[in-house]
Formats: sequence, structure tokens, C-alpha cells
Amino acid sequence: MKLHKYSIKKIYFNTLIIIILLITGATVSVHILIELNKIDESTKEMISSQGTEFQGIFNDFLRRNDIHQIKRVFSSMSARKNFVTTWLSNPEGIIIVSDNNTNIGQNEKDLLKKYKLPLKHSNNKYYYKTTEYASIRYPIIFGASMGIIAPNRKGNFWLIYNMAAIREEKIKNIFIFSMGHSLLITMFLLSFSILLYKYAKGRVSRIASSIEKFSDGDRKVNFIIEGKDEISQFSYLIQKNANKLIRSEKTIKANEEKIKHYLDIIDKYVIRSHTDKYGVIKEISEAFCNISGYKREELLGKHHNILRHPDMKKETFKNLWKTIKSGKTWNGEIKNRKKNDGYYWVSAKIMPTYDSKGKINGYASIRNDITYQKKVEEISVKDELTGLYNRRYFNENFQNILKRNYRYNKYACFIMLDIDFFKKYNDTYGHLMGDKALKKVSDLLSKLFQRAGDISFRLGGEEFGIIPHAKQRKDCETLCDNILNAMRQLNIEHLASETADYMTISMGVCSIENSVNLLKSEFIYKKADEALYISKDKGRNQFSIINI
Ligand code: GH3
Ligand code: MG
Ligand code: MG
Repeated sequence: MKLHKYSIKKIYFNTLIIIILLITGATVSVHILIELNKIDESTKEMISSQGTEFQGIFNDFLRRNDIHQIKRVFSSMSARKNFVTTWLSNPEGIIIVSDNNTNIGQNEKDLLKKYKLPLKHSNNKYYYKTTEYASIRYPIIFGASMGIIAPNRKGNFWLIYNMAAIREEKIKNIFIFSMGHSLLITMFLLSFSILLYKYAKGRVSRIASSIEKFSDGDRKVNFIIEGKDEISQFSYLIQKNANKLIRSEKTIKANEEKIKHYLDIIDKYVIRSHTDKYGVIKEISEAFCNISGYKREELLGKHHNILRHPDMKKETFKNLWKTIKSGKTWNGEIKNRKKNDGYYWVSAKIMPTYDSKGKINGYASIRNDITYQKKVEEISVKDELTGLYNRRYFNENFQNILKRNYRYNKYACFIMLDIDFFKKYNDTYGHLMGDKALKKVSDLLSKLFQRAGDISFRLGGEEFGIIPHAKQRKDCETLCDNILNAMRQLNIEHLASETADYMTISMGVCSIENSVNLLKSEFIYKKADEALYISKDKGRNQFSIINI
């Protein structure tokens, strides 16, 4: 892992370097100060002893007035290292003998100024009682010089040394020594610090690697670092939080398992599906597959209407789509087709689902298997052979259905239908064929009367009742014509019939235009029956209408 530029390591070492630099600087400075003091003292002693020595020599030369010798010594002296100049002046301060660096006849006052040496005078004369060291202690000012004055009867004898050069040379040595010294201290501090850092870093790294392992999923990691320092405290805190996290993870896992268990149950027992907004199946539960007889992959990607049963009225689905498209939930009962024949009934709740922008992106449905209930219901209200509503259902609902139709259309009618010469059919073709013929006729009626508001019954034997959706008598006549034509088309052979060589039917219609008459259902039934007999009398294969 790469460390950030403000990592502990960087801060630590940067601080360390600053501290080392400060210590080194301070050590070197103090050292130089002490040593400079020593230099000045030792130089003074050196110059002093040289001065005393030269004084003796020069006094001797002067006594003998051997200026030539003095000059020779002066020139050899000026060749010495760090030596600036030397001269001899008369009591008035005028230079009478000098090395090559100083002009004869020059006033020594100017020279002393030049070399930054103090002037001492009395009675406007330069007068020095004893051997005196005209030394200046400017330890740090490198331009300073140091001189020695050796007065005698004939004047002043000067030796001027360049202190700056002396100091510079000495300081170089001191500096090297001090640096060496500081380097040792630095090395020691550095090694000590590295050890300290490694110790601290080792502990932090242990926590870091534990955290890394923990985030990689290892839950057996131990974060704790024994001790009483901050790092140890920190490790305890991490451990505490990790334990908390492990506990919550366990709870989450348990809950997830519970949810999965429930979801499995839902999948297994709840007939659930999800389609896109066009009705194409995107998700389907196991229960859905089980009831429909399809495999999941056979349904995914297919339109929901793959399950549509022909018995279901188109209007039901029209209404369903209208409801769910408008964002409402549709509730209702649906008869669905199984994969391999057969059917099942569900009580369905279908609702829209939305995307993040609030737009309908599909539809979800949950369904209840109500097949058994429906079958029981059907048995009690439907005729077993034909599948049409039975006589009992007719008796219970006849009036209400008429009333309902009348409410919609301001008109209602009831058609009574009887197969012609059916006894003879049975006698000719057998009872079984008779049953089959009954089924064919009833299927035909179901097919012809499947709009909302249409309802057909088997009233008994070979007698049927129809309450169709009709707005006026003319509609009713058309419907009757349609039935007659359809019977012709159906063409069930009936050679024993006296009307035709195929099976025919006769109809009696009660056409209700006055709502008051709706209250008299028995009367309506009777009128239809009467009309039927009229048709029979007239020669069958026709319909008659009685208006009330
Ligand atoms: P009409 O033209 O005057 O109506 O003569 P019909 O022979 O059709 O009338 P009828 O009432 O004399 O006879 C009805 C026959 O229908 C009698 C009965 O055997 C037969 N039938 C009634 N129910 C069933 C049934 O469920 N299956 C079969 N195969 N025949 C039935
Ligand atoms: Mg009959
Ligand atoms: Mg009959």
C-alpha cells in the first residue's frame, strides 16, 4: 500500500531531520564560539611571544643602528603565512623601516586605522609605556586584524597579523571537527529514531494488516496489541467495533436466511408473475409453473395471453388492461388454460409497477387458486353435459338477468329453444349420439352468445333458454335467424326428422318492451313457451315472437 504524502512516516522523519539540523547547528555554533575565544587567546600568546622575541632582536639591531638587518628580517617575516605587515616608526609616528607592504614615510596612524587597531595617544603623541598587545576581540568579524606593539626609545615596532585568515583556517578545522561530532550525534539519533519508528510502525502495521484481513472476510482476526499506550488503546477500540460488526453480520445473515426461506415459500406457494409493460413475462414463481403445467423457461419471454382460456370474455381483458394502464389495481377471477389441456381458475390481483421516474414499467400479479371452489360453484349452477347454466340457476336468476339487460338496453328478450323431433333422433341414432348432439347444439349457443350480457341455459331435456344482449326486437330476430343458419351449417344428420335431413330447432321469443312486465317472470316464461308452440305448430325450424 502506498503511503499518502502526509503519512506518519514522512511527518516523523521530516520532524526528525529538522531537530537534527537544529541540534547540529546549535552544536557547531556553540563550538565555534568557544573555539574562537581559544584562538584569540592562543594567537595573542603566539604574537606576544613573537613580539618579545623580535623586540629583543630589533633592539639589538637598533642599538647597532643596523637598519639593513632589520629590513632583511622584515622582508622574511612578510613571507610568513597570515602575516600582514610590520614596521618601525619614529616617536612622531612616521614609518622609518618596513617590509615591502608598507611605504616608508607613511603615518602609522593611517595604517592603524586601515588595520582596525585602536589608537592610544598621550600629549598628541603615540606613546606606549610597555609592551602592549593592541589586540581586538571581534571574534566573529573576519576582517579584523591583530597587532602587537613593541615600543622602544626610537619609536614603535608593529607586527600586524591577519586574524581573519587565522580564524578562517582554524574555523575550518573546528567546523570539520564539529561536523564530525554532530554526524556522530545524528547517526546515533537516527538509528535510535529508526528503531523507535520501526517499533511504533510495527504495531501500527499489525493493526493495518489485521484490518486488511478483516475486510477480506477473515472474521478470526485479532486486533488487540497488548500495552497501555495509544496504539494499544486504538487496537482495543477496533476490536470492540469489529465484534459489533460481526454480531450485526450474524443477525443480518440469520435474517437473510429467514427472508430466503420465506421467499422460497412464497415462490413455492404463491402464484406470482411479473411482466413488462406489454405483458411479456419477466418473472414467474414455481407455484405459477406448477399450476399452469409450464416450465419456467417456457413462460419467460412469452406474452401472458399464452394462458388465456377461450371461455374468458374479451371484454374482461379489455377492462383489465384499461384498469392497470391507468395505474389502478385490477381484481378479478380468471380462467386460465393449462399447458396440456384443462384449465384452472385464479382470483387475481394485478397491479402496475413503476420505474425510478414514476413511469409504469410493468405489471405484477398475485393469484389464488380457486379452481376447486369454481368447480363446486359450476357443478351447482351448470349443467354437467352441456356446460351451460342449469335450470336451478335459471330459476334463481332469470328475473335479475332480464332486469340487468333491460337497464343497459331499455329492452330485453327471452328465447326458448327446443330441438325438433329429438325423441326420434334418440330412437334412430341412440342415446349416446343424442347426448353428443345436445353438446354440439349447446357449444353452438355458447359460441354465438359470448358477449357480456349474453347468457344461455339448459332448461331441461332438449330445451334451452337464452337471454341475449339485444337493444330491440330487430336484434332479437337477427339472433334467431343466426341460430337457424348456424344449425344449418352445423348439419347434424337427422334422417328421422320430418322438417329436414339435418337437426333443426324451433324457438319461441318473449320480447319485452315494457319494463313493468319485467316483474312477471313466470308470465314472460309462459309467453316464450307459447311462442315456441306456435313455431312447432307452424312446422318447426323457425322462431315466433310475442311482444309484451
Ligand atoms: P318435438 O319436435 O315436438 O319437440 O318432438 P320431440 O321428440 O323433440 O319432443 P319430446 O318432448 O317428445 O321428446 C324429448 C326427448 O328428448 C325425450 C327424451 O328421450 C329426450 N331427452 C331428454 N333429455 C335427454 C338427454 O339428456 N339425452 C338424450 N339423449 N335424450 C334426452
Ligand atoms: Mg323437442
Ligand atoms: Mg322438448
